[in-house]
Amino acid sequence: CLEVALLAAKEAGRGNVREYDHNFDTSLQDRFRTEREIRLAIDNNEFFLEYQPIMCTRSHRLTGYEALIRWEHPQRGRIPPDRFIGIAEECGLIAEIGEWVVRRACADAALWKNGLSVSVNVSPLQFATSDLPAVITAAIRDARLDPKRLSIEITEITLLQHADQNKEILRNLRKLGVGIVMDDFGTGYSSLSYLRDFQFDKVKIARSFIRDMLQQPHSAAIVDAILLLGKGLEVDIVAEGIETSEQLHYLEERSCTFVQGYFIGRPDREIAEFPAGGLLSEVEEAV
Ligand code: C2E
Ligand code: MG
Ligand code: MG
Ligand code: MG
Repeated sequence: CLEVALLAAKEAGRGNVREYDHNFDTSLQDRFRTEREIRLAIDNNEFFLEYQPIMCTRSHRLTGYEALIRWEHPQRGRIPPDRFIGIAEECGLIAEIGEWVVRRACADAALWKNGLSVSVNVSPLQFATSDLPAVITAAIRDARLDPKRLSIEITEITLLQHADQNKEILRNLRKLGVGIVMDDFGTGYSSLSYLRDFQFDKVKIARSFIRDMLQQPHSAAIVDAILLLGKGLEVDIVAEGIETSEQLHYLEERSCTFVQGYFIGRPDREIAEFPAGGLLSEVEEAV
């Protein structure tokens, strides 16, 4: 694809003045190979979704799951999304992958006996390269899923680029009944005006702040501030990346409504059919 070719040319140009870099060569080849293989992966059924539970701290019940894409490569094994989503975006393959994710997640959720919701990550480029409301409408209809059980997670970049156009798309999705979640808030290009100008259903605090909040006062101050902001704006805050009971307690004391992380539950291919959205025993002991 063009972008990768340009990148290659640029890097090749650099290579002329620099010493030959074997590491770099490998990573560029790796990139070309990944691009080629992504094209085959959908047809070969190499992608699948794992679902990570999200818990409400008020009810101590699971309320939904985040769908996370996985690639089981026949030779290279498991490839994490951070290693291929960016390449798929640059090569114009993200629309196809994204549609597969939305369809798979809707079809799976429609079969969950616990009736919980599903939240799907949508790349900023999916807004530009596909008709997202049409894709989502078709996926919901084909799966016979109540649109209220579906949310999409976007990042700040979606509102930074083509802001007016993308806000219009978000409003159309909202009209369908689909929830809109701001993911990784506080990293990217955080602008508070995004929160003022668009009413999100949920805002997720980026994992790095949760990871550091009990050691770093600055991270704690940012977490506290986002939680206060959520109260003022009447938007539910989700903390992601909770790995310890101490982190869970800190967030519960500050009325963080939703929590997600390895401590609550790891992403899993099979949805455990908790009768009423129950919890893992170690979490139950901690809450
Ligand atoms: P994200 O949307 O912020 O997803 C949360 C990431 O944190 C996931 O990584 C999840 O496995 C990981 N995580 C959850 N709890 C914990 C924890 O307690 N500790 C630690 N260390 N990590 C935790 P994952 O699955 O590798 O996904 C990385 C990113 O890739 C996602 O970040 C999302 O931006 C993107 N991604 C994943 N699936 C999709 C997809 O279907 N479509 C698109 N466009 N992007 C996706
Ligand atoms: Mg997410
Ligand atoms: Mg996130
Ligand atoms: Mg992310």
